Amino acid sequence: MSKKGCLMQIQPFSVNDGDGIRSTVFLAGCPLHCKWCANPEGLQQRPIVGFYAGNCIGCGACVKVCPRHIGIDLNAEREKCTGCGACVKACPKNARKQLVSYADREEILKEVKKHTLFYQQSGGGITFSGGEATAQAELLDDLTTELYDMGYSLDMETCGYFDFDSVLPILRRMDLIFMDLKHMDGAEHEKFTGVSNERILENMKRLGETGARIVIRIPVIEGVNADEGNIRKSGEFVKQYLPQAEMELLPYHKFGFGKYEALGLPLPDEIFETPTPEKMERLKGILQELGIPLADFR
Ligand code: SF4
Ligand code: SF4
Repeated sequence: MSKKGCLMQIQPFSVNDGDGIRSTVFLAGCPLHCKWCANPEGLQQRPIVGFYAGNCIGCGACVKVCPRHIGIDLNAEREKCTGCGACVKACPKNARKQLVSYADREEILKEVKKHTLFYQQSGGGITFSGGEATAQAELLDDLTTELYDMGYSLDMETCGYFDFDSVLPILRRMDLIFMDLKHMDGAEHEKFTGVSNERILENMKRLGETGARIVIRIPVIEGVNADEGNIRKSGEFVKQYLPQAEMELLPYHKFGFGKYEALGLPLPDEIFETPTPEKMERLKGILQELGIPLADFR
């Protein structure tokens, strides 16, 4: 039987998610709830439709097809919406967009295999991301088994919060694993992401023992983790437990807020700011002093 999952999107021709030209598969669901998250639609595993009020001309085509009799302002009645997507097809102005949909393994495999020639010519492949790539572990196992057996290059972006033993066979199929390290302080990590960093740090240590190619990524956010002490501690941890890993510092940007509006959600806290380029260089300098190679995929 074909396995079904919840898909945010498949982004073809990505050059920021690993080597070469890649297709990035964004699977829905995440055990963390980061307060600055740019993809709030990816937190849950169910079909979700967004309402982009700025595009709406008030034609009412969506209302005519909605099986739940929801009006034009979807966000005023969001609790009734099943995400069926009938209004998305009816809307002439892209004011309704399917942000998460059901997709089965065959659809996902067919889509990513379309660009095989580009992967072959560029040294690229397929990257699994999210939401959280491992949040649908059974589907991910199934997809990566087939693609690995066919010789595709596979990468993964993960928040690191998963059951290590059950995900290990998937990790072993990866050419490159990007794992996030959001804060070295457990209480701060929990305050901003909803979970402690204990399991993530433990998984990093175990990943370091596998010999995998790893990039530890820090999304650098003023107001959260951009202080020099935290970056130094992060670097020291990586140096001690993942001596083969590279690190990448990614400056936080206020992208994705349109999705909050489209979902009728309050915007992330204003305390989150983008670090200056000078600050980013200083923080990278700390990691370089520690002798850690820096990656730059963005
Ligand atoms: S996704 Fe379906 S249930 Fe939700 S508003 Fe559109 S038509 Fe109605
Ligand atoms: S179909 Fe689209 S443009 Fe027309 S009222 Fe609905 S959301 Fe607005």
